This record gives sequence, structure tokens and C-alpha cells, in this order.
Amino acid sequence: MSEQGAEQLAAGARLSVARTLNRCTVLGPGRRAVLWVQGCPLRCKGCVAAETLPFAPEAGRPVAELVDWLTELTDIEGVTLSGGEPFAQAAALVELLDGVRAVRPELSAMAYSGFRLPVLRRGTGAQRELLARLDLLVDGPYVAALHADLRWRGSSNQRIHPLSPRYLKELAEPDTSAGIQLSVGLDGSFSWAGVPAVPGFREEMERRIAAEGFALHTEAGGPVPHTGGGEL
Ligand code: SF4
Repeated sequence: MSEQGAEQLAAGARLSVARTLNRCTVLGPGRRAVLWVQGCPLRCKGCVAAETLPFAPEAGRPVAELVDWLTELTDIEGVTLSGGEPFAQAAALVELLDGVRAVRPELSAMAYSGFRLPVLRRGTGAQRELLARLDLLVDGPYVAALHADLRWRGSSNQRIHPLSPRYLKELAEPDTSAGIQLSVGLDGSFSWAGVPAVPGFREEMERRIAAEGFALHTEAGGPVPHTGGGEL
């Protein structure tokens, strides 16, 4: 990162974050970190996790801290940005990707959005700048009535757009669900991430978890609408 860039980040750019995951193999090509932002301006029918829709400035984390987190993950090939709505915090995400690539230029970037690509292309300057830094975009909101067994997305209205040549080969592979990733932390915590191939996955999992006497946390660290994930 340039000295000037580091000073700008140190000056206080912040990103409202719902949750992060260090390594994930079901939300984009290869092994990736995932960052779910907090807050979305849309209210789509079928959004499965209302808890991440409110904007929460108090959940803001310094962009410089997130740059350090990503650049220290030496075994990932990129980062996936989900939410919430990443393009509602486009300027901070542009700073994040620039900061990361100043140190790790090889890392790829993928993002989800409830907005369609043509809308984003007519959007704010920061939204266009974020598009210019992405290799892949999955656009459109999740619509429960259109749920389908698809790779990296939950409903058939959502589309994968290659915004660079990097993943054209992967996009030619079969378009079926990448599955769900389950993780158990050293502290005994349990988490899941991914896009379920069948509708109602989250509800059924929560029902079974509750039946065993556990509680699923659904605050800022909980499941998210574009791409599922949760923690116990
Ligand atoms: S589906 Fe996505 S775009 Fe729609 S309200 Fe939920 S988070 Fe926002």
C-alpha cells in the first residue's frame, strides 16, 4: 500500500460488517474469504434474513483492519463480498480492494448485489469503481418462488456476470449447487455458509438445532440473505 493510501485508510474509512469467514469453498471459485456487509436499502419479498437489513454504523470496522485481515490469509485466492448490499457501501469496498491489492495483487474479487448490473453501471461513481475491480458479479435479489439448484446463487433470476477474463473457464463448468460448508471452531462454535440447493434449508436446520436445545444467533453475525451463513 502506498504511504498516502495507508494514511487515508488510517484516517478512518469504515465498513459496516455483519460477519466474516476466513476460508470458504462454496461462495465463488476456489478457496475464498467472505465478507458479509451489514445493511441493505431494498426490501425484497423472499429475503430470508431480515436481521442484516438495517444499517448499523456502530458495526463499522476500520477498512485498514479488514485489509490486514485479508492480506494475512495466505491460502486464499480471493474474497467474496456479500450482504446485506455491498453496493450500498461501495466507496469503502473500493478502498478495501485497493488496499488489499496493493499488497496481494493476485487476489480476485467477487460480489453479490440485489441490484441488476445495468442499474449499477448507471449508479454512483463509487458503484462503477467497485464494478471495475470485480472479477465476478452475481446480480439480482433472492426470490423464493424461483429457488433452484444453481452454483453460488439461490434463485433462477440471479445471474453470474464475468467482469474480467479470470474465471471464464470455471463458468463453463456444470451450473449446480456448490453445497453448504460446515465449520467447527477451536472454541466449539459451529458455523455454516453457502447457498442451499433446496428451499427452506435454513428453517429446517434451525428447527432441528432448536430441538437439540441449542440457540442459533441471528444478530449481526447471523445468517444473511444473498448467501446463507450462520453461527452457533
Ligand atoms: S434479497 Fe438482497 S437485495 Fe433484497 S432485501 Fe434481501 S439483502 Fe437486500
